[in-house]
Amino acid sequence: MTVTVAIVGAGPAGFYTAESLLRSALDVRIDLIERLPTPFGLVRSGVAPDHQHTKRVERAFTRTAEHPDVHFYGHVALGEDLTLDELRGLYDAVVLAVGAPHDRRLGIPGEDKANIFGASAFVGWYNGHPDHVSLNPALDGESAAVIGNGNVALDIARVLVKTAEEMEHSDLPEHAARAIGKAALRDLHILGRRGPAQAKFSNPELTEMTTLADALCRLAPPEVPEAAPNDLDERTKRVVERNLATFRTMMERPDQGERRRVQFRFWSRPLEILGGERVEAVRIAHTRLDEAGRLVDTGEVEEVPCGLLVAAIGYQAPPLADLLFDRSGGHYKHEDGRIVSGLYCVGWCRRGPSGTIGTNKADGADVARHIVEEHGAGGRKSGGPALEALLAERGIRWIDAEEWEAINQAERDAAPDGAPRKKFVRVKDMLAVVPKERRHGAA
Ligand SMILES: Cc1cc2nc3c(=O)[nH]c(=O)nc-3n(C[C@H](O)[C@H](O)[C@H](O)COP(=O)(O)OP(=O)(O)OC[C@H]3O[C@@H](n4cnc5c(N)ncnc54)[C@H](O)[C@@H]3O)c2cc1C
Repeated sequence: MTVTVAIVGAGPAGFYTAESLLRSALDVRIDLIERLPTPFGLVRSGVAPDHQHTKRVERAFTRTAEHPDVHFYGHVALGEDLTLDELRGLYDAVVLAVGAPHDRRLGIPGEDKANIFGASAFVGWYNGHPDHVSLNPALDGESAAVIGNGNVALDIARVLVKTAEEMEHSDLPEHAARAIGKAALRDLHILGRRGPAQAKFSNPELTEMTTLADALCRLAPPEVPEAAPNDLDERTKRVVERNLATFRTMMERPDQGERRRVQFRFWSRPLEILGGERVEAVRIAHTRLDEAGRLVDTGEVEEVPCGLLVAAIGYQAPPLADLLFDRSGGHYKHEDGRIVSGLYCVGWCRRGPSGTIGTNKADGADVARHIVEEHGAGGRKSGGPALEALLAERGIRWIDAEEWEAINQAERDAAPDGAPRKKFVRVKDMLAVVPKERRHGAA
């Protein structure tokens, strides 16, 4: 009998797992269960709206979704619409691909003041994720700070300082375009505890910061190390050396009276967030590396003004049933992707928030191999039809692949000139696109 596999989460890790299973010799039915009516996870709602070239991977995922052995169940949330035990009862194998949507906290005093956000929420806001569309950040201050030295911090800074013309071919939703367009922002600080050679920026993303139309980037302190540290592997060393060269180019760009300034404030450890009800500044300790390579404070303290603060310091997988958690990594406990027999994890909920979209491919291949080994003799559980019966019984309306295509087409049809789509940002508006007679499980 056909092996039935439920993959929970239709982001990159979910799609790569489906692809690997389809390439295996297994007679398999794959059901992709996704809490939003729309697939693609962070490719839709994390990757920056001005990086449409990165979103092209959606085409490959769409081809996988169109395979006759793959079925999409959008608008179905594990843990809300059905439990993990119920799902495991319906399928031979369950693969968790739920990502890491929860922001890590800074853990410093003042963190609960108004206008402080985690990157997941803030990026979700400017990317039209229905969970965060009502975030309503106040952009009326002249200064803002982003804490973190990875690509997410660069994305946030870039989206905030680019001009409307620079965002013309993006899918930045109207609410965010309007708010960013009238922002009073002049100074944006990117804070990192370590130095330019330790930052985790990819070079193309950093290079983009040197070509902004109306924002000038500078380093504080202005020193760029001569060379990358010696203790790095060859690949990392090459990236660091390119980044150091990019920082030098950045410092050489003449000041042409740009409206906005981005300050890379290295060697800055946040101590406390200051202000009344709303954030007004962040107090930082200056740091350095000691002879043993440990990060230590220099004893100097400074206050960096910011009326908006976004912490881009990592994410955690969602708590699900009583699954064991690796707290320091922010992901589920597993062995090579296997949580227990018949239950697996892939992507960010397996590894924590690191790597690019393609990094998730290997996880899918591992888990497909486990499933083939454990279920090669054939399946026992009916999967999809039993899931549909359960959803219908609960009056839960799900979205299939054709209905998602209708939502996708409606977004494309509504796109302003030059933009790829006008995103629906509310679930009810997405659901309204599907004609009544087509609706599944509708109450
Ligand atoms: C801000 C940001 C920008 C990025 N930019 C880039 C970039 O430019 N280039 C690049 O290569 N990588 C980028 N990445 C990294 C890339 O997005 C990740 O590697 C990748 O998306 C992780 O895939 P995933 O499938 O594990 O998780 P996700 O993409 O998060 O997908 C998880 C899916 O699970 C669903 N889900 C969650 N809980 C449930 C539930 N209970 N029931 C059902 N479904 C559920 C979610 O809705 C989501 O669709 C970026 C990441 C971030 C955060």
